[in-house]
Amino acid sequence: MSDPYGRTWWGRKWWRALETIGLNYPDQRIVRGRALAGHGAVTGMSIDPGVVSGHVADNGRTFDTEIRIPVYNASAWAAGMTALSLSPSCVAGLLAGRLPKKIDDVLAETGMRLLPKKFVTEDHNRITASCPCADNREVCAHIMALALVSAAKMDDDPWLVLLLRGGPTRDLAGRLRAARVASMDAAQPV
Ligand SMILES: [Zn+2]
Repeated sequence: MSDPYGRTWWGRKWWRALETIGLNYPDQRIVRGRALAGHGAVTGMSIDPGVVSGHVADNGRTFDTEIRIPVYNASAWAAGMTALSLSPSCVAGLLAGRLPKKIDDVLAETGMRLLPKKFVTEDHNRITASCPCADNREVCAHIMALALVSAAKMDDDPWLVLLLRGGPTRDLAGRLRAARVASMDAAQPV
């Protein structure tokens, strides 16, 4: 049976990034988080710019959990959209409703990265998590459950990954076109 969390490369990369914050296989938090996610313990999940949040029920208690990641500002995204608009394979992928595999390579030209490869301390890729349970590790089973359930949501709707990073989610086709026209105009000799 295929993994219901992270069926896409971006969904998998998201929850694996969380896993790398101090967890290693085999870690009971990963196993327990997966069990909680599978039992529908995560409710009220929301993916917003810079934060994924949700309630995780466990043993009669409910924990309000949060995973935070920095957002890029509008000018960073304008540069990022221009870089993407100049990559035919990225444009084709995005317009087909998925995140192209090379999106991070293209965004890297402007110093951006959509999803951290793993836990890193660079300012723009630093993921932090919080849960009020007694586990003092940065990632507990509840955070793992939230990461898995949010990954499944991102599988279905890749724009949530852009939203999480403060990026555009509406009229992507129009924005890519406008960015391309603007960069071509800029390249024209006066
Ligand atoms: Zn917890």
